[in-house]
Amino acid sequence: MLDTLTQRLAKVVKTMRGQARITEANSKEMLREVRLALLEADVALPVVRTLTNRIKEKALGQEVVGSLNPGQALVGIVQQELTAVIGGDLPEKQRRINLACTPPAVILLAGLQGAGKTTTAGKLAKWLKDSMKKKVVTVSADVYRPAAIEQLKMVSEQAGADWFPSTTEQKPLDIARAALDYAKLHFADVLIVDTAGRLSIDEKMMQEVSDLSAFLHPIETYFVVDAMTGQDAVNTARVFNERLPLTGIVLTKLDGDSRGGAALSVREVTGLPIKFVGTGEKLGGFDEFNPEAMAGRILGMGDIVSLVKDVTSSIDAEKARKVAERMRRNGRMDLNDFRDQMVQMRSMGSVSSLIDKLPASMQEAAAKANVSDEDADRMIRRTIGIIDSMTPQERRHPDLIKASRKKRIAAGAGLPVQEVNKLLKQYEQMTEVMKRMKKGGLSRLLRMAGG
Ligand code: GDP
Repeated sequence: MLDTLTQRLAKVVKTMRGQARITEANSKEMLREVRLALLEADVALPVVRTLTNRIKEKALGQEVVGSLNPGQALVGIVQQELTAVIGGDLPEKQRRINLACTPPAVILLAGLQGAGKTTTAGKLAKWLKDSMKKKVVTVSADVYRPAAIEQLKMVSEQAGADWFPSTTEQKPLDIARAALDYAKLHFADVLIVDTAGRLSIDEKMMQEVSDLSAFLHPIETYFVVDAMTGQDAVNTARVFNERLPLTGIVLTKLDGDSRGGAALSVREVTGLPIKFVGTGEKLGGFDEFNPEAMAGRILGMGDIVSLVKDVTSSIDAEKARKVAERMRRNGRMDLNDFRDQMVQMRSMGSVSSLIDKLPASMQEAAAKANVSDEDADRMIRRTIGIIDSMTPQERRHPDLIKASRKKRIAAGAGLPVQEVNKLLKQYEQMTEVMKRMKKGGLSRLLRMAGG
């Protein structure tokens, strides 16, 4: 997704090497590249303007911290602003599902045919059941396509949710009323209502779904949109937003070859938070939207971006100064930095989403190793555990760690010595990457990683 943005940024980073600060002149080309890349990725023009203006405002005159060059610093700013624009600037509460009402909490799904509403109904039911321990009932108000009703029945069964039967002979409002009664009677926590879609906006459909909304008073009304659709998605979103009290967006088919521009646009144009993302046809492919992870994925620079961000972060200037100083002094990161990276990785979401952000060569290795989310989380937790068993001096000077210290550290972490060796090896590899980054700048590293 948005591959070209990464390539374009890498190019700019290269040309800006050797300059001390970000200026009107040297940021010009960078901003032009960002603008072009976003337009190529199908982001609507007004959104592109907002984003580039924000980046410019932040970047101009900014001192460049430590060993970063202005290009790298700009990448950090692009990442920050991208995160903010796609939803990172919203309060946590607005980004998450809202079920705070007398049960059953009704969730209405609206969108065009083929957007992935029915699949989303199944995925959401499973997510609510597994992650929030909710009792869920689903119902289809699509009285035009018997296949849609069957499909909902099937995914609901797979999700372990209760499916309320409906037929094409009924009226949507009658179905809604009966399903609501059923959900109340059975003490369901949530009622998910799937609605009929059309291939394009159609007055009858809009009226029908807005009648359903008026009757059901859903606490959540999601506009389900296929991430692969381009500018059309924006227009459709606008119409739905005018007719329905939408509360959020579900972005589907993010596994596809989408350039993701629609995602940025729909969010900005409607002002609605993206609440969930769907990947793949299996019901497990569904998660809460994480703007930070998404921006990282869009930029495709993973660890490097979070490192750049760490150093440029204005919120934690003191820490940034220390990291920069430490890196300049040592020409490398120490185990404290390594630990910070691990903590950050844990907060960034599932491994599958993390793997997406690794450089291509590492992605391959990860795919081969077939690492599951649990495996990786365990690995990260272990790493943190081991580092926590070291003395501050050992963390700063890992080369001090010889056999007897290894034994003590392993015992402290409750792990075999091999695990300590493994970690030290990883740390060495990371140091190697850092050295190359210092020598050749980010663009070289990206080239090396096939980015
Ligand atoms: P609806 O008409 O809005 O209810 O859309 P459906 O749920 O029937 O989905 C349309 C098609 O897209 C189906 O073939 C789904 O299997 C597929 N689909 C839905 N969500 C995803 C997704 O996240 N990734 C992929 N690859 N396919 C999806």
